[in-house]
Amino acid sequence: MKRFGPTVKPILSHEEALIFEKSKPGRLGYSLPPLDVPEVQPQDLGVASEQVRTDGALFPEASENELVRHFTRLSQKNCAIDLELYPLGSCTMKYNPKINEELASSFGFGDLHPFWPLNRLQPALAIQYQIQELLKILTGLGAVSLQPSAGAHGEYVGIKVMRAYHRSKGQDEKKTKVLIPESAHGTNPATCSMVGYEIVSIPTNEKGIVELQDVFDLIDDSTAGIMMTNPNTLGLFETQLPQIAKRLHEVDGLFYMDGANFNALLGISFPGDLGVDLMHINLHKTFSTPHGGGGPGAGAVAVRQDLEKFLPSPLVGKTDSEYFWKENEASIGRVGGYFGNFSIQVRALAYLLSIGNDPKTKSPIFRRISEAAVLNANYIRARLKDYYRIPFDTICMHEVLLSDELQKSQKLSTQDIAKRLMDYGYHPMTVYFPLVVSGAMLIEPTESESKESIDRFCEAMISIARECQENPKLVSTAPHSCFRTRPDELLAQKKPKLRWLSEESLH
Ligand SMILES: *Cc1c(COP(=O)(O)O)cnc(C)c1O
Repeated sequence: MKRFGPTVKPILSHEEALIFEKSKPGRLGYSLPPLDVPEVQPQDLGVASEQVRTDGALFPEASENELVRHFTRLSQKNCAIDLELYPLGSCTMKYNPKINEELASSFGFGDLHPFWPLNRLQPALAIQYQIQELLKILTGLGAVSLQPSAGAHGEYVGIKVMRAYHRSKGQDEKKTKVLIPESAHGTNPATCSMVGYEIVSIPTNEKGIVELQDVFDLIDDSTAGIMMTNPNTLGLFETQLPQIAKRLHEVDGLFYMDGANFNALLGISFPGDLGVDLMHINLHKTFSTPHGGGGPGAGAVAVRQDLEKFLPSPLVGKTDSEYFWKENEASIGRVGGYFGNFSIQVRALAYLLSIGNDPKTKSPIFRRISEAAVLNANYIRARLKDYYRIPFDTICMHEVLLSDELQKSQKLSTQDIAKRLMDYGYHPMTVYFPLVVSGAMLIEPTESESKESIDRFCEAMISIARECQENPKLVSTAPHSCFRTRPDELLAQKKPKLRWLSEESLH
């Protein structure tokens, strides 16, 4: 990657032009051989004439090498885990080993079709079965569906299962509420309201977790369940799950755990043992496959054994001699294709198995993943604590939360710090999330990073903290190395321009 020094301006040139602006009429990147079959008009195929376009599509016209250079250059402008630590909290941007990619495209996996005869699907089903089994061990729960395509999709499945459970017990009418901590990811309340539940917010106490008495006060007969993230989005372990689960079970509510932060718990804490009834896991965070690229993802859902019958069908079952699709009699229905996003599952399995076995027990030592992730986050916490406010300065889990309070005296904020970080070649950390901490900066190094790369990141952060004191203008006007510096983010959200229009078409 081209690295700009902290204050160097980029050289603007044709490099920055869009591919549309580089287009020259008649230039070709690829040409087809002459047509050797009769030409067919859209009308001959029954396409209504008003649906047939009369103008040409506005594709850019470029030669192959222009195209390759354009996109290669673009790819180098990105921040990427293959270039540097990617501190985007809550996204678990760990390194994605290349062997995972290779495996996902090997053995004909790319050509699989769910309607192939079962005997030809055996190797694929064996892989799925093995992941189901591993996830059962790691979650301490009894059944797993691999069908959901993302974390939020997994939440949806889980809360639908919650509702199906109450319906099956004839108590759906009275079970109207789900309790959610105020620090939750926005998908949690969104999911519950999509499924038709009312949301009751649990406050965060001064230690950054929920207060037992607050939860007890909110639980009553109308409680369908609780949805808690553990470790929570402040990077802190919620210590009172068993007590909460016990009280919740007394009113026949279900405990849903958002397992997006599972990277802190692998092989150490087993949610089923804590009283969790159902949860999702972001395979595309915890088990490699980059998060945040727009997909595909995989949000496997694990449930207590007696809730298995509600899961989306099919699950993968096994007899002594073969694997088979298993339909669930009370299923909430399908939420995706048969396999789910199979290639993500292959990557997840490869990641899990690559961790190596304990020489004594011969079973994989998953806790090594989480131990390193937690240690790395705490190392950052210790190195940065004199430079940034740490709202909850206790041992954190796999991510550390800072705030901009110390920089406020210079009229600088999280936004400025994040923008300045881009000048140092880093993708910004997660900013202004979770909402319960003003000016939050959430940093998640993951287990992939060496001490040297974490030190480099900390030194960048320390240098920015010094700049905030010594040269606040440099920070408030950052970034100085990017072509788009401070776009109006609200306008970009509300009125995104997603389509290029030529000068002529604008007039
Ligand atoms: C990432 C995340 C989600 C949503 O997962 P997606 O795969 O992005 O849908 C939900 N909850 C938490 C805490 C997360 O970090």
